[in-house]
Amino acid sequence: MDESHIEGDLVDVLFTEKQIQERLGELAAAIEEDYAGKDILLVGVLKGAVMVMADLARHFGRHVEMDWMAISSYGSGTKSSGVVRILKDLDTDISDRHVLVVEDIIDTGLTLSWLISNLNSRGPASVEICTLLRKPEAQQMTVDVKYVGYDIPNEFVVGYGLDFDERYRNLRSIGTLAPHVYS
Ligand code: 5GP
Ligand code: MG
Ligand code: MG
Repeated sequence: MDESHIEGDLVDVLFTEKQIQERLGELAAAIEEDYAGKDILLVGVLKGAVMVMADLARHFGRHVEMDWMAISSYGSGTKSSGVVRILKDLDTDISDRHVLVVEDIIDTGLTLSWLISNLNSRGPASVEICTLLRKPEAQQMTVDVKYVGYDIPNEFVVGYGLDFDERYRNLRSIGTLAPHVYS
């Protein structure tokens, strides 16, 4: 779906389909270089990271494995609390594996911090993070985010996997919602 189908719902298109694809291509190239000679296990966090995972994985010129986790974070409304429950765990044993967590967006980073320590407790060879978008608060995270697509302002964005009330995930671009949609 492109913006013409939801005319008026977006205030702004932040990143077009083309921009997203170009940036993912750059990230994949950097990752391939850093992991030369090592097998990579990409771990996607459902549901938001589905599009990023699908496109990032296809930018690689080598084999990568993919696995998924679903976690729910208890929080009030739009803010996460860092209290997390696993809804779907990995199928893969990650001991001695090089794990790269693939995320759509990091806001407070609370959920992700929990996930990283959970993954680290399983004895992987390494755990790194790749996120398409990062908001300002995330820069206070204790865990380091090695690959970032774009740093964005503190606005609520939708599209390319990111939802508002389960809608807009299938938008090809990323934009900011018009206030009339959520008020
Ligand atoms: P964190 O634990 O980093 O605060 O929460 C990250 C999660 O909050 C994301 O995976 C996403 O589901 C949701 N989130 C944070 N910011 C946004 C945003 O701007 N738009 C959308 N659609 N979801 C967001
Ligand atoms: Mg996510
Ligand atoms: Mg959501």
